[in-house]
Amino acid sequence: NFDYAPAPESASIVDIRPSYGLFVDGEFTDPADGRSFKSVNPATEEVLAEVAEAGAEDVNRAVAAARAAYENVWGPMPGRERAKYLYRIARLIQERSRELAVLESIDNGKPIRESRDVDLPLVAAHFFYHAGWADKLSYAGYGPDPRPLGVAAQVIPWNFPLLMLAWKIAPALACGNTVVLKPAETTPLTALVFAEICRQADLPKGVVNIVTGAGETGRLLVEHDGVDKVAFTGSTEVGKQIARSVAGTRKKLTLELGGKAANVVFDDAPLDQAVEGVVNGIFFNQGHVCCAGSRLLVQESVAEELLDRLKTRMATLRVGDPLDKNTDVGAINSAAQLEKIRMLSEVGEREGAQRWSPPCELPDRGYWFAPTLFTGVAQSHRIAREEIFGPVLSVLTFRTPDEAVAKANNTPYGLSAGVWTEKGSRILWMAERLRAGVVWANTFNKFDPTSPFGGYKESGFGREGGRHGLEAYLDV
Ligand code: NAD
Repeated sequence: NFDYAPAPESASIVDIRPSYGLFVDGEFTDPADGRSFKSVNPATEEVLAEVAEAGAEDVNRAVAAARAAYENVWGPMPGRERAKYLYRIARLIQERSRELAVLESIDNGKPIRESRDVDLPLVAAHFFYHAGWADKLSYAGYGPDPRPLGVAAQVIPWNFPLLMLAWKIAPALACGNTVVLKPAETTPLTALVFAEICRQADLPKGVVNIVTGAGETGRLLVEHDGVDKVAFTGSTEVGKQIARSVAGTRKKLTLELGGKAANVVFDDAPLDQAVEGVVNGIFFNQGHVCCAGSRLLVQESVAEELLDRLKTRMATLRVGDPLDKNTDVGAINSAAQLEKIRMLSEVGEREGAQRWSPPCELPDRGYWFAPTLFTGVAQSHRIAREEIFGPVLSVLTFRTPDEAVAKANNTPYGLSAGVWTEKGSRILWMAERLRAGVVWANTFNKFDPTSPFGGYKESGFGREGGRHGLEAYLDV
């Protein structure tokens, strides 16, 4: 009895509890050794809650619960039955979307306009989309009887906490796997509300388990013997460690890692539209986006004009309170991330690039960084090569399409790229040559659950979303 109409806005305001336990076998429980950590509001530096830190014993319990649920309930359940639970979860996310959006903005620092209009609708869409797959896997070219893999260990980052959870959990469950998921230590709260939603949806116990904690908890989880599949989204550095630890085991692995995307603007591009795309590409979510357009490659003949317009537009960006509906750029997620952005920006200056930010008053408390532009950037500069993961744009120029391709591909990463031009043939020519999992044309940062997403080169392997995303959770 499912209804696809948008849910009425819930009247509830966000209710943050003083402390949160682990979600294991359908219950919230205390960690075995009683340890916890604090989740902090990055816009105010206030402590939001004490959150349980899972150790080895807790991870054992969570994996055992996931195994039992897989063997006894979820694995054998017909796809059409699994679909009902996924539809129910999707509906509950819609019903509680206002509360979830506010909580996400408080815990993460992202502007409410983004969590409300981008993150939450995509989270619900992801569950709806995968609910639709659950009963169709046998007729979709995977062979007559595709099988789930078993227990999936899933580790996610802090930049899109609930959306990354949806990317991981929805396809795993649709295919009949059970999961143990570890959210990032700076943004655990919406995952714990999601655990409540699993209970509201009467999801059988043990199908979804959430273990909170830092990197050590993640390591214990991905190295656990009882796990059949590891799905990781995060830094390339940790991804490589995980690849090494999984090598030689029976576990299947997918990795979604870092990026250093080029946004390539040709001289025939509609410049105002391109400016909007460049701004969206790097300042959306404070630049905490794996596919952020952090390198602007602009054709020399229009570079000056584009930069003038870009600076004018950057001066209108409102930086501040994530819960203010007019805010464009929110808080940096953590003190550590702020330090990394500052350090790399200082390196940029020392290496000879010119730094510019619009006049911008930043709040006294919390973690903030003004939208920043570097010109005079050379390909050898660290700010042209390393992922800054903040609101910092490095500008390079090119003369010919060949040079644009060479520069865009001159990175160990290959997650995404953008092309701005009036010429359709040039879009196709570029898309063929750019070594990136996604190439956007005359737009940027567009996501859709029907479309596979993932990296080339050191941005990882495997795809999430679309038909291809299901392959990561099936034996065919
Ligand atoms: P991170 O690698 O430091 O942490 C990611 C997660 O891994 C966290 O939950 C962390 O606790 C956990 N972790 C840390 N050490 C671990 C270990 N040894 N074993 C297992 N788990 C461990 O990354 P981050 O700083 O949280 O996130 C930012 C990075 O994520 C950026 O590089 C960004 O590009 C990337 N990212 C990629 C995508 C994508 O789809 N490709 C999406 C979002 C973010």
